[in-house]
Amino acid sequence: SAFPHVRFLTSAHQERQFPPDSGAEVAVAGRSNSGKSSAINAIVQRKGLAKTSKTPGATRLINFFELEPGRRLVDLPGYGFAAVPGAMREHWGTLIEGYFRHRETLRGAIVVMDVRHPLTEHDRTMLDLASSRSAPVHIVLTKADKLGRGAGLQAMAGVRKAVGPGVTVQLFSALSGDGVAEARGAMLRLLA
Ligand code: GDP
Repeated sequence: SAFPHVRFLTSAHQERQFPPDSGAEVAVAGRSNSGKSSAINAIVQRKGLAKTSKTPGATRLINFFELEPGRRLVDLPGYGFAAVPGAMREHWGTLIEGYFRHRETLRGAIVVMDVRHPLTEHDRTMLDLASSRSAPVHIVLTKADKLGRGAGLQAMAGVRKAVGPGVTVQLFSALSGDGVAEARGAMLRLLA
């Protein structure tokens, strides 16, 4: 395994429940059903570590995982805009914004997008929050197995053009394993 000692640390639905703000963290964001959990589990090579957004309550919680001492992966909840009632969305927004605004140990963000539907409003919110912190961003375009090679490359080029230089973008598939090593490398660079 890439991280033999990876472990779940804690779930937080309020900022005061975050673990101590020391060491280095990479945040992983992605809207509901983007393939974020599958991507996290593939990158850390631990099946079932990150829970799918279909898990009840998962949309309200930030999950902290320790990759190794002092280095954490932070699974930010995502949602499908239509599916979430107003009050919950407000709570979500407050929690996520608080994380980006206050977390000293944040080193960068990985934003997971379905390659067939990239740069949703949700994704743009994540990119804006990261750039408000000047946190480097790496975009993982997942479910690439659902597109042909040419269409995948075209989608990646479109996203690259839209986000501009300074943000890295890659194709990924949790199903085929394509891009998993590249994503792990990007995560380790953000944490370095
Ligand atoms: P999350 O809600 O963003 O955490 O997404 P999940 O990881 O739970 O994935 C949502 C759905 O997409 C599930 O049915 C997964 O099996 C599927 N999925 C995730 N990654 C891939 C992938 O790389 N390829 C394909 N074909 N399906 C995927």
